[in-house]
Amino acid sequence: MSMSSSSNTSPKIALVTGGSRGLGRNTALALARRGVDVILTYRSQRAEAEQVVAEIRTLGRRAKALPLDVGHSSGFPAFAAALRAQLAETWQRERFDFLINNAGIGAHALLAETSEAQFDELMRIHLKGPFFLTQALLPLLADGGRIVNLSSGLTRFALPGYGAYAAMKGGVEVLTRYLAKELGGRGIAVNTVAPGAIETDFGGGTVRDNAQVNAFIAGQTALGRVGLPDDIGPVIAALLAEDNRWINAQRIEASGGMFL
Ligand code: NAP
Repeated sequence: MSMSSSSNTSPKIALVTGGSRGLGRNTALALARRGVDVILTYRSQRAEAEQVVAEIRTLGRRAKALPLDVGHSSGFPAFAAALRAQLAETWQRERFDFLINNAGIGAHALLAETSEAQFDELMRIHLKGPFFLTQALLPLLADGGRIVNLSSGLTRFALPGYGAYAAMKGGVEVLTRYLAKELGGRGIAVNTVAPGAIETDFGGGTVRDNAQVNAFIAGQTALGRVGLPDDIGPVIAALLAEDNRWINAQRIEASGGMFL
């Protein structure tokens, strides 16, 4: 079912941060398949981002890629201006409809060994980034729009080495509920999607490339395997469908049933 066939005939527009690879890329494509136009961001992988844009266009949707470092909030006003210009130029619109705060990095360090620099980097990218990026984009997000924040299964279960990362993701889950509370008056629903371990480049691609880690996770997953990007993008795209409009302020885990 197309998401563009509601009373408003113009297609919905999604902004996916970190759309050049992994889950963001998969989400961008899943949204396009459902009739949503996409603006995706990349930090370093411009060529990969442009490939995703080209793929979205072959699906018949409009797409653009913009550079963004979510770890540097000082750049957010300029990014908002670039987004505003892109919306006007490509869509003749002033607002977009869906914000997916997905960009992120993996880091593995025991609590006893985590440096302040590692902690600060995770905090800037995973917590401060979504907080102030969302703030900067609020004037450009349409009333009745939606926000999805990416968290992790690691906020529910603990694996040694992910303490700082998971603490930031826990913050994102609280932020989600507060955003839902404060934006409800504008008809904006805000939810968290928490993937389990997924085979991407994340954290150096360990889950995908290390056979031992992969087998361990598969063994702890009710559905008996490790997740793939295609297990996540369609979840986010479906959550943003009109049929799911009443789901708000929720943490939805998509992990195949890890550590039950
Ligand atoms: P990935 O394959 O490594 O892709 C990361 C994406 O984020 C890339 O598009 C990258 O851009 C972008 N990015 C990284 N740092 C950035 C920064 N400082 N500013 C802006 N963009 C940045 O990772 P992924 O697995 O898709 O992860 C996506 C999200 O899902 C993250 O929030 C992660 O915490 C979460 N998550 C992942 C897993 C998993 O097992 N994979 C599980 C639970 C949650 P470039 O390509 O341009 O570098």
